[in-house]
Amino acid sequence: MEDCVFCGIAAGTMPARIVWEDEDFVAFDDIHPQAPVHALVIPRRHYRSLADDVSESLLGRMCLAVTKTAEVKGVAGSGYRVIVNTGRDAGQSVDHLHVHILGGARMSHGMVNLVEKPEE
Ligand code: 5GP
Ligand code: ZN
Repeated sequence: MEDCVFCGIAAGTMPARIVWEDEDFVAFDDIHPQAPVHALVIPRRHYRSLADDVSESLLGRMCLAVTKTAEVKGVAGSGYRVIVNTGRDAGQSVDHLHVHILGGARMSHGMVNLVEKPEE
């Protein structure tokens, strides 16, 4: 999709530190890491989010791409957190489906920081 930064990374027209890739998925380091290891896994094909028309097969293969990426990043044994921000309330900022893989340090148990919701 035009004007989509992650489509650009998948196509190789936008620079990124690629961690791993295959025919259908690309994993790369997040440009603003929030943990010692912070990678993103995307399908090459553009889906807006998890709420788009995503098949069971794609979801399953994307989970396997996540475990593969964790192995390559060296956190498969130590553990990692997987986040898929979906839509406005989750703060999704790039409208191309992506999975965050965060690790390399011990994380707090609380996963969510709520903020005041602006009037809609
Ligand atoms: P979201 O907030 O949509 O769940 O996450 C988007 C993520 O993409 C953010 O963590 C942000 O740092 C990352 N990001 C945005 N633009 C780029 C880019 O051009 N390159 C890379 N590597 N990461 C990006
Ligand atoms: Zn895209």
